[in-house]
Amino acid sequence: MERSLRLEGHISAEEVRRSPYLYLPVPVPPRASRLHVSYEYSDPVTAPFGLGPGNTVDIGIFDPRGHDFIDAAGFRGWSGSAKREFFIAPHEATPGYIRGPLFPGDWHVLLGIEKANPEGVRYDVTVSLTLDEDDPPTAEAPAVPAAQPAPKAKGRSRWVKGDLHCHTVHSDGLNTVDEIVTNAIERGLDFLAVTDHNTNTHHEDLARLAHLPITLIPGEEVTTYWGHANMWGLREWVDFRCADSESMQAVQRFVLQRGGLISMNHPKSVGPPWLFEGWNGYPCMEVWQAPWRFYNWESLERWDNLLRGGERVIAVGGSDVHSIPPKPPRHPHGLGNPCTWVYAEGGPSEESILEGIREGHVFITDDPNGAQLVLTADADGDGKFEAMMGDTVEAAEGRQVSFRVWTNGGSDRRLWIICDGLPLDVIPLDGPEATHSFSLELSGRSYVRAELRGFRGRPERGEVVWAMTNPIWLKTS
Ligand SMILES: [Zn+2]
Ligand SMILES: [Zn+2]
Repeated sequence: MERSLRLEGHISAEEVRRSPYLYLPVPVPPRASRLHVSYEYSDPVTAPFGLGPGNTVDIGIFDPRGHDFIDAAGFRGWSGSAKREFFIAPHEATPGYIRGPLFPGDWHVLLGIEKANPEGVRYDVTVSLTLDEDDPPTAEAPAVPAAQPAPKAKGRSRWVKGDLHCHTVHSDGLNTVDEIVTNAIERGLDFLAVTDHNTNTHHEDLARLAHLPITLIPGEEVTTYWGHANMWGLREWVDFRCADSESMQAVQRFVLQRGGLISMNHPKSVGPPWLFEGWNGYPCMEVWQAPWRFYNWESLERWDNLLRGGERVIAVGGSDVHSIPPKPPRHPHGLGNPCTWVYAEGGPSEESILEGIREGHVFITDDPNGAQLVLTADADGDGKFEAMMGDTVEAAEGRQVSFRVWTNGGSDRRLWIICDGLPLDVIPLDGPEATHSFSLELSGRSYVRAELRGFRGRPERGEVVWAMTNPIWLKTS
């Protein structure tokens, strides 16, 4: 037997300003075996990337186990505005939604109004329920990937390269998890984090592919209407319904207290930008998203400002890829553009890679085969350069400390040494490989980092960053 319910209404622009989230109760009777939801709304945005005039209404759903902020046991999925319909059944569901029993009681369709015209938005949601004649077999808990300890690294410590940001059919990407992981291996990546928007249903696919020769890191792009944050390392769903800086800070604490990592993403005008007041307490920032010319100068400046203010924020990169072959291209770049290199103690594993990022043992380059750039220091003057990016170098006042930058792929490019936000030196490079040494007296200085800059395409288009390091922190004893 089918039962249908239609939920129509209007939300004014004023109501959206008060709260962008609307909960529509859906009573589900016993013996429901399939729930199907479709929706429409007035004047949807038609311009690419959600720009231009019109409305954007996102959708998700909670079951009767609850929809409280941060502690919503009943989360059953989210698809943003990427899908106009979805279903949930005991043994399957639309990607982005959690299959499992259709508990009787009040479910809630969640509408998120990302963008509303001044005259507001009309919505029209249809919920269809398939009801069985007989009682269903004993209900099992919804299929959420079980938390599993990350395997320990075993092997030689080394630099590994990967991508920390991409999307699949579990949110608004076009590829399956299998396609994107296969492509990452073909591109030579050692690790890949899949960060679908506001859901964790892709984690199950990552666990299924764990035998492949690549380290797969579960993630989620916590996608709010005031900024995006990548979470890495947790299996559980992380709430995204933040409408102010306090609720975003609560999400930050939730992730960090459980041992995950979190990053402010693409903090630039077309990121979409980071509009929360709070910038502190985030261990990472996505300073480089997509090819450099995609407004990354803005993110770089934001980052340098935070560093100058004393925040030790680790710069990471992410391609934010939403489609790769065989699906039609939506953007001119692929996985690993840019590519984040991490020093993995004991070889690559989820744990060693996340720990390497926490330590700041990270540099970023434009491509998996792009120029590498490594900054080291000889903290104690013994001729061994044992300190690297992310480490703190301490020296007595007046003593000079030696630094070394190594790069390959440096022809016709320039090496920038940057200290406390200002260029200390700019060195033209004329060979494919170069080592540049310099020394510094540390007093009054707090960090030093390096960039590889050069032209890309016609010179009148200006320089881009080809590679950049994280800082070595400086301290006078
Ligand atoms: Zn984003
Ligand atoms: Zn993204």
